[in-house]
Amino acid sequence: MLFKKKIQNCVIIGSGPAGYSAAVYTARANMNPVLFTGLQPGGQLTTTSDVDNYLGFPKGINGNDLMNNCDKQARRFHTKIINESVSRVVLSNKEGGIHYIFFGEKKCIKSRGVIIATGSTPKFLGKNKEKKFIGLGVSFCATCDGFFHKEKDVAVIGGGDSALEAANYLSKICKRVYLIVRKDHFKASKILQYHISKKNNINVLFCTNITDIVGNDFLEGIKIINSKNKTNKTILISGLFITIGHIPNTEIFKNELDLDEKGYIIVQKGKTTTNKPGVFAAGDVQDPNYRQAITSAGTGCMAALDLEKYLSLCV
Ligand SMILES: Cc1cc2nc3c(=O)[nH]c(=O)nc-3n(C[C@H](O)[C@H](O)[C@H](O)COP(=O)(O)OP(=O)(O)OC[C@H]3O[C@@H](n4cnc5c(N)ncnc54)[C@H](O)[C@@H]3O)c2cc1C
Repeated sequence: MLFKKKIQNCVIIGSGPAGYSAAVYTARANMNPVLFTGLQPGGQLTTTSDVDNYLGFPKGINGNDLMNNCDKQARRFHTKIINESVSRVVLSNKEGGIHYIFFGEKKCIKSRGVIIATGSTPKFLGKNKEKKFIGLGVSFCATCDGFFHKEKDVAVIGGGDSALEAANYLSKICKRVYLIVRKDHFKASKILQYHISKKNNINVLFCTNITDIVGNDFLEGIKIINSKNKTNKTILISGLFITIGHIPNTEIFKNELDLDEKGYIIVQKGKTTTNKPGVFAAGDVQDPNYRQAITSAGTGCMAALDLEKYLSLCV
């Protein structure tokens, strides 16, 4: 029998920094957490090589090594780890109610507490070599990887707030930033457009598409085409920042939880509480703004403490 207890106290869905952080805290508080890894054990950081901004590693750490450490730390406190995806949930509306978490071939766990840490997935351009060069020049996070391109030329693709924020951030580190916008206008807020217009080292290229990614062992440049006059060009850059959006992994919660217009789980301000009692959300799945490993781990801790308090009040 996999689970001796019929009703669990804590089921964690997701094995990124948020999920493992929640696991360590709930396990050390005797809540016997059960954690589902999903299809990407370790989460998004397993797709990158160098993580330089996670506190506590003065020399930086490889993304896979960091997440292996998190896994070991959670196991040290006897977190039960299940290498499966959750396929469906039925979440109770009642205080102290029981939630049902389905996985595998019609298997189900019941729990009073659920921590959702299913993260988000960055949108890809769908170009050749794009995935191959992740961590080798292609990035989805200017805050994470901008520093590796100090005094170099880079490109940002996107026309929304995130893209303009990334271009603005990179303009303070890099020599030149090409801001590639597929349409003939920005989607971003006027204030961000104003800041961009004041920067001498940001070249905005409207009506432009990336046709190819160039390089052998790492990114060396991109081929672009102007969709109006059909001119082609190759730009030599060391970094390509793809900021065309993220998709929160919330498909299975659609009819169970309140989500915002982009699909992120809505939590109470400054907390991890969702609209269902005993259900908490942590990490990128509830955060369209910061999307960092450390903020995910931080909210994972918050979710564990929020759940601990909830259980102590309703048992
Ligand atoms: C290429 C790349 C490089 C990055 N570099 C940095 C960096 O240097 N520094 C930094 O701070 N941040 C970086 N980030 C961002 C960082 O990885 C994320 O902010 C962080 O991983 C989010 O953590 P999370 O725990 O919320 O979710 P994720 O890491 O997205 O993990 C989500 C987890 O949920 C699981 N899951 C999803 N659906 C289900 C389901 N139905 N059932 C069970 N499990 C499920 C997945 O398998 C996965 O384990 C980078 C991101 C990318 C893509």
